[in-house]
Amino acid sequence: MAKIKAIRGMNDILPQATPVWQYLEQHVQTVLGAYGYAEIRMPIVEQTELFKRSIGEVTDIVEKEMYTFEDRNGDSLTLRPEGTAGCVRAGEENGLLYNQVQRLWYKGPMFRHERPQKGRYRQFHQIGVETFGMQGPDIDAELILLTARLWRQLGLLDAVTLQLNTIGSAEARGRYKDALVQYLQGCKEQLDEDSLRRLDTNPMRILDSKDTTTQALLNDAPDFHEYLDTESLEHFEALKSVLDRAGLAYEVNPRLVRGLDYYCKTVFEWVTDKLGSQGTVCAGGRYDGLVEQLGGKATPAVGFAMGIERLVLLLETLDVVPLSARQTVDLYIASMGAGAASEALLLAERLRNETDLRIQLHCGGGNFKSQMKKADRSGASVALILGDDEVAQQVATLKPLRSDAAQKQVAWSQLAAELTTIINV
Ligand code: ATP
Ligand code: MG
Repeated sequence: MAKIKAIRGMNDILPQATPVWQYLEQHVQTVLGAYGYAEIRMPIVEQTELFKRSIGEVTDIVEKEMYTFEDRNGDSLTLRPEGTAGCVRAGEENGLLYNQVQRLWYKGPMFRHERPQKGRYRQFHQIGVETFGMQGPDIDAELILLTARLWRQLGLLDAVTLQLNTIGSAEARGRYKDALVQYLQGCKEQLDEDSLRRLDTNPMRILDSKDTTTQALLNDAPDFHEYLDTESLEHFEALKSVLDRAGLAYEVNPRLVRGLDYYCKTVFEWVTDKLGSQGTVCAGGRYDGLVEQLGGKATPAVGFAMGIERLVLLLETLDVVPLSARQTVDLYIASMGAGAASEALLLAERLRNETDLRIQLHCGGGNFKSQMKKADRSGASVALILGDDEVAQQVATLKPLRSDAAQKQVAWSQLAAELTTIINV
């Protein structure tokens, strides 16, 4: 019978890869903790209407990427394509946002029906950060500095650059949109197909176009920054000045507009040239209008999301994950003979009580050679070997697996102390 396969673009994350995911996730969690952010966990499925209303009807996500289905009650539900909408919904519904300041984060799978390729999948994973109730540029700066700290800790800072822009207030964008449409109407026949369609529906997204002819046309388009409102400009200047004083380099990219409708003022992306065309590893911005758009009281908000798969790819490409992060076992316990096997199990339990060592016990018998092969493959730095003679004398043999040091016999009562010294965890 034909075997059932996974869904295209939805990957298994296998045991040899998960240590790198955990390494990344633990670093992110520690950095977020250092800034006082609290975790929130939302459902993966929401009402379709939530995404339509927040992300925008004429965005790529809502137009063609959502996994939408009818449930048994006939309600239209959608697998979340991103986390911001659900986070705002949850915050509003549970009274976290009204007249409050919140610093929140979440992690988990997101779903978009895109063409699968390196760095682009149909189920992918994000760590998202959202803040509410703070309108000044200081919180924008905090978010950016937080991400920079993370890259520094992970050894990625030299491989990424910060792109920054302001997209102003809704009114300023409206004024600019008119000017842009008027300009592009004049050279309509040269626009690529997507951009032509967007001319009527979502002209700002044309700035995002990857088409080279369209890009060239945009060089002579009206300058967005000339249309910006004073408040947004001041906000942007203040943000840049904090980043300057913090010594963090950035590039102002006037073409950076972001794909979703809800952004205003600050937008930013961390991009790398090490991953080919899927180079954005973290993206975010301010979305002061979204809470109100979803039925709450107007609440300033700013956040970002990072793509875990792309960051894992980058960590692997740059080869910056320490070996210790991939190692999941410190000690492998092998035994020879039925009596020794049951004794080994009890000894393993005792050592787990007395130390923090990660101990893998050999189960299922087998000769010495095959047990040692497994010990080696486990990644453990030491093997503990127990035979019937050793049990009789209440000793065990310790055999270093990653150095030339000689093996030795150690009394059971001394094992915990000896192992913590040689393995040094
Ligand atoms: P892109 O321009 O690469 O499509 P986006 O603007 O659609 O990105 P966001 O919605 O801002 O992406 O998501 C934030 C981050 O999540 C991206 O910067 C990227 O790292 C990651 N991401 C987005 N879509 C995917 C996907 N299909 N597969 C893997 N990672 C993704
Ligand atoms: Mg996209």
